[in-house]
Amino acid sequence: MGNAVLLATRAEAMSEWAEALRALDPSLEIRCFPDVGDPAGIEAAVVWTEHDMAELRRYPNLKLIVSMGAGVDHLLRPPGPPPGVPVARLVDARLTQGMTEWVLLNVLRFHRQDPEYRAQQAARIWRELPAPDAAARRIGILGLGALGTAAARALSGLGFPVTGWSRRPKAIAGIECRHGADGLAAMLPRTAILVCLLPLTPATRGLINADLLRALPRGAYVINGARGGHVVDADLLRALDEGHIAGAALDVFEPEPLPPDHPYWSHPRVFITPHAASITIPRSAAPQVVENIHRARAGRPLLNLVDLAAGY
Ligand code: NDP
Repeated sequence: MGNAVLLATRAEAMSEWAEALRALDPSLEIRCFPDVGDPAGIEAAVVWTEHDMAELRRYPNLKLIVSMGAGVDHLLRPPGPPPGVPVARLVDARLTQGMTEWVLLNVLRFHRQDPEYRAQQAARIWRELPAPDAAARRIGILGLGALGTAAARALSGLGFPVTGWSRRPKAIAGIECRHGADGLAAMLPRTAILVCLLPLTPATRGLINADLLRALPRGAYVINGARGGHVVDADLLRALDEGHIAGAALDVFEPEPLPPDHPYWSHPRVFITPHAASITIPRSAAPQVVENIHRARAGRPLLNLVDLAAGY
């Protein structure tokens, strides 16, 4: 039986992960892809998007797969994880903090008319725009999980009314919670800034399309920190060009990296970051990974277990 942990991501990140895991449990045997060694020796695989998931099927004693991020769409696309092997993801305070900061940056960018003031600066124009009123600008958050809930609370704390949308009913103090198709239809016409923090699943792919954008009020903004596959790019570009959507902040794309000739790069109302909204810090995330390795060995319930049927 195996007892090695395989790490598979970029080389620099692998050495950081190896150091962080060894600091917590020096007895762990850590292997870094592509130096897999005897595939039968691998009991846990801690992987990120670069890894070929078909490779995992070569490890006959694999007991656990861990995503190095909060998302697991990269693990679940065909061929998917080997049957019967559980998948865990990260829920991490630093990851959550990073995403909250990125969401606040972009909500405040649009709320405080920063694109307009930058354009004025370029033209040396000294002109006050109407005072923004947070209480009059409702934020709609798609996804009320670890990241969506934290962003909702932070925005509510700044005085924005917030509506959040989830799959199942939820109650969060100070946040208007909606769920399901009816909940989304009720939320969109009142949403001035839409923030997407959903997992990418068959049910959420392409959700931000022409129909959804049309349901937002004219002049609304779109912020996507989740996955590129949530947005139908041609629909968003059309809505931006028509002025129905006043601006978009996008961190994630399909494909990544965003191709150099993509119209988003030069669009005056699009603000791009390179999938950097929140980056996993191995030292912060390692304790739950080591705990899960110990739990998998002992046959105990895992932390942050992914529901493979729901896709997140
Ligand atoms: P969670 O699993 O904690 O939360 C997901 C939320 O989405 C839940 O509220 C869930 O509803 C809701 N949801 C899922 N499917 C549907 C659906 N069909 N209809 C309505 N609501 C749905 O995820 P996290 O908050 O931890 O992360 C969200 C995503 O953010 C990740 O999957 C990842 O893709 C992305 N991400 C991006 C990063 C970046 O740097 N750009 C960094 C980290 C994550 P319910 O509560 O009912 O289950």
